[in-house]
Amino acid sequence: MRVKSLEISGFKSFAKKSTFDFGASISAIVGPNGSGKSNVAEALRFVLGEQSLKSMRGKRTEDLIFNGSKSSERQNRAKVIITFDNKDRTFPVDYDEVAIAREIHRDASSEYFLNGSSVRLKDVIEILSSVHIGASGHHIISQGEADRILNTSPKERRAMIEDALGLKIYHWKIVESERKLLKTEENMRQSESLRREIAPHIKFLKKQVEKVEQARALRDELALMYGDYLKREEAYIQCAREKLHGEKENLERELHEANEALAHADSLRGVHTKDSAEVALLVSVRAEMGAVRRERDDLGRKIGRFEGMIEFEERRMNAPQEAHEKTVSADEAENLAQNLYDELGYAESSEDYLYIKGVVSATRNKIGKFLEHIRGSDGQRGPSEAAIKALEDLHIEHKSLLSAQQNLEDVISGFETRIHELERILETKRAETTDAERASFEFRAKKQELTLRLGMVREHIENFTRDEVSFREELREGGILIGRSILDYTNIYIDVAQALSEPRAEQEARRKKIERAKIRLEDIMGGGSGEDIMREYEEAVSRDEFLAKELEDLKTSAESLRDLMRGLEEELGAQFKDGIKKINKQFSEFFALMFGGGTASLEVVIEKKRKRSDTEIIENPEELEEEEAEEGIEVAISLPHKKIRGLQMLSGGERALTSIALIFAVSQVNPPPFLVLDETDAALDEANSKKYGDMVATLAKYSQLIVITHNRETMSRAGIIYGVTMGSDAISKLLSIKFEEAEQLAK
Ligand code: ATP
Repeated sequence: MRVKSLEISGFKSFAKKSTFDFGASISAIVGPNGSGKSNVAEALRFVLGEQSLKSMRGKRTEDLIFNGSKSSERQNRAKVIITFDNKDRTFPVDYDEVAIAREIHRDASSEYFLNGSSVRLKDVIEILSSVHIGASGHHIISQGEADRILNTSPKERRAMIEDALGLKIYHWKIVESERKLLKTEENMRQSESLRREIAPHIKFLKKQVEKVEQARALRDELALMYGDYLKREEAYIQCAREKLHGEKENLERELHEANEALAHADSLRGVHTKDSAEVALLVSVRAEMGAVRRERDDLGRKIGRFEGMIEFEERRMNAPQEAHEKTVSADEAENLAQNLYDELGYAESSEDYLYIKGVVSATRNKIGKFLEHIRGSDGQRGPSEAAIKALEDLHIEHKSLLSAQQNLEDVISGFETRIHELERILETKRAETTDAERASFEFRAKKQELTLRLGMVREHIENFTRDEVSFREELREGGILIGRSILDYTNIYIDVAQALSEPRAEQEARRKKIERAKIRLEDIMGGGSGEDIMREYEEAVSRDEFLAKELEDLKTSAESLRDLMRGLEEELGAQFKDGIKKINKQFSEFFALMFGGGTASLEVVIEKKRKRSDTEIIENPEELEEEEAEEGIEVAISLPHKKIRGLQMLSGGERALTSIALIFAVSQVNPPPFLVLDETDAALDEANSKKYGDMVATLAKYSQLIVITHNRETMSRAGIIYGVTMGSDAISKLLSIKFEEAEQLAK
């Protein structure tokens, strides 16, 4: 890898595009003072990402852009392109050439390009550091900068040497690790603070979760209680429903039967009224019988009269004719009286008018005959034939009358049988009616009682329906409370027989117990299911666990970063020690060469610095002040034949020689890809210039050299010489020249 070319346009005095081809291992840039040679070295710094305007002799970005002259317009942008040959793939990219470009504008905007593609500064730094070219530019020794390595502090010197040894990468890595460590520690603090922040929340949630768990246990208990209660209630409802409906059906059937029986009894009552056919018949039979009785009584009276007449006739025929006066025996009179007494007694107790009338008529007849008997007859003696004949006729007539009377008696007897029959029928019917009425009354009462009972049963059923509704409501409510759509109690076992036989008060007690549990549950959870709290708790815990894990990871990565840093420090230390050793060997050789003897070396020193707090009021400075150890590099020299021990005692030329010896020694130990030396040889006399030229030639074996010089000897070592001139237009111009022309140009 080597620098192929440098293209400058608009940068400082190079208003127009100028291209350097660095085809040789040593390229020299020569020209008169102020022509713009140093601007080339700065263009190199610039394109390699230099951020310090001071090191490019500028104060503002604009100072780097061609500012115009009397004859030329100022430029608005400056662009520098450096092209490296990468055939050996020193740059880790798959290109034969690597072209890095930087462009700035007057508005201070800056752009970088890698092989034409826009990239970030970081990308440029990265690719350059891969070939140990840093922006710090230890490989670009600016004009007057050569002895900076001698003038600077031991610490700064150490940094310069570390850079030249290519150890800066360790610093970057350490700084990077430190940055990462800081970031990690910051993240750790954040994680810890987050954990601290959420800890009380988790604590609070944990308490809530405990409540939720308590509620869940209570809910499970409640579910069992509910299940037991509902199962019993269901059994009760089922049994009671069957019982009530059975009762209702029975009562309805009984009522139906009672209704039918009542209707039947009522129909019977209607049939047996006083106007029935039997009554009419009885009346007519009685009337007929009365007529016949009257006829018989008439006949009886007639018979009586006949009997009187017969008696009279017989007495007349038998009685003596002189005895006119008649006597009546007491027996006869008593018989008559007794007869009348009896008959009238019957009549008195009878309601039958015709009968009474018949008795009265017969009584009168008997009394008439009696009177006739006691008043006597005409007194004739011996019955006459006529009288006998009349008596016989009377007997015949009497006989036929008796027979007629007997016939009438038979008819009456027939009527009486009939009447008796009818009265019996009527009596039976009357009795039946009474039975029907009694039955009707009884059935009516029964109906009333049944209706009442049915009403009660229906009311029970209605109440019971309400029980069923509240049962379903309880089922639903229970479900909601337990957190299920419906409370499943099918798996709960109860002793049904026991459940049905126990008093209802026991169920009521269970219900009250459930109510109390519900209230307790409400108290704990306020009606919520607790799902949200559980979720929030789980989220918070997993967040905390995540943070704890993250913290653990961060601790591990912080630890590994510290390990890495320790490793890097150790590596840096070791490399540095080794580098110093190697540099010292070269340094003393170069030094001896330049001074014709003497010794020179780098020595690692530890500088102790006092550090004090500037923010606090110091009461006891001795205590607060502390010493800080700083490693640095001192340059120890010993000139031949001179007793010079310190650098400050050297002449200008001696200083230049010493610093060149050191720069070259360092470059030899860790050869940079290229080295720019801007008038490093300015202070050398001819003899030393020769030595310098030799050293440059040696160095060119390891590094590509671009030397800006006025020194003839140096020029003579270059393979390519560029002349830089500046005319009246104040623009640097570039020309490739021969050694002889260069000598001329440099004067
Ligand atoms: P010496 O041999 O004396 O060291 P040199 O060849 O190194 O001189 P430089 O220092 O490179 O010269 O160039 C300085 C010149 O560049 C000055 O003339 C200065 O005016 C010019 N210059 C610097 N910055 C700008 C700018 N922004 N625009 C135009 N010209 C500039």
